Amino acid sequence: MTPTATTAPPTVPAALEVHDVHKWYGTHRVLDGIDLTVRPGEVTVVIGPSGSGKSTLLRVINHLEKPDIGQVSVGGELIGVRRVGGRLKELGERAVLAQRGRIGFVFQNFNLFPHLTALDNVAAAPVATGRLGRPEARELARELLTRVGLGDRTGAYPRTLSGGQQQRVAIARALALRPGIILFDEPTSALDPELVGEVLSVIKDLATSGTTLVIVTHEIGFAREIADRIVFIDGGRIVEQGPPAEVLDNPRHERTRDFLARVL
Ligand code: ADP
Ligand code: MG
Repeated sequence: MTPTATTAPPTVPAALEVHDVHKWYGTHRVLDGIDLTVRPGEVTVVIGPSGSGKSTLLRVINHLEKPDIGQVSVGGELIGVRRVGGRLKELGERAVLAQRGRIGFVFQNFNLFPHLTALDNVAAAPVATGRLGRPEARELARELLTRVGLGDRTGAYPRTLSGGQQQRVAIARALALRPGIILFDEPTSALDPELVGEVLSVIKDLATSGTTLVIVTHEIGFAREIADRIVFIDGGRIVEQGPPAEVLDNPRHERTRDFLARVL
């Protein structure tokens, strides 16, 4: 959440660039020409009705799904599919793994390893990718768990933790690879209402400390508080985007107004 993010000089590469991304499932068009640029340190909140393509967009950014057309670049490296002289050409297949290592992903349902402690859930990826030795990874995991308020639960298994605690472990795990950007897909929608606040407060802490975030959420009040930019998606298209004061308080499009009237 940096006020200067949108005025960063153009020489600084975007943290994330999504260019003209299209995605079909069979004949069903799910993403219909998405363009999105996220500057380092920027907090982007994506809102939109169920089925509008928000999760698919995050999955394309993380290369869990391939766009049928379009490109995604993370930290300046391009991959995707581009039209070259009327033909579709695949770009940078080998960069996929490298890019994934630069992206953290926090899922709605935590997706922790059930057989590993909180500490080992967080330490696993840096060890598996060879970035850190085991002692260093465990030390880092301890630091990150403390940062998300779980310094006293490092030895706990996921099933003994509340949903809010599990999601905070998942956030620590995402941080462990020191990603350039973290994607959140409805991080609080699987939680009991009384546990939502503790997770939002950890995300807010990341936002104010300059981490680049893309967050899909229905928590509009939270979005207003932390977003540099709100992106409203409907029918696989970005209908409008801008600062919260514009998109949430003064939407220009009928579809945005309808959506907000339903969720607010
Ligand atoms: P949102 O996250 O905004 O609710 P999604 O990106 O999950 O929307 O889904 C967008 C549309 O794509 C929905 O109509 C959904 O049913 C469809 N869809 C999502 N994933 C698949 C899939 N793997 N196969 C077929 N259709 C899918
Ligand atoms: Mg979704």
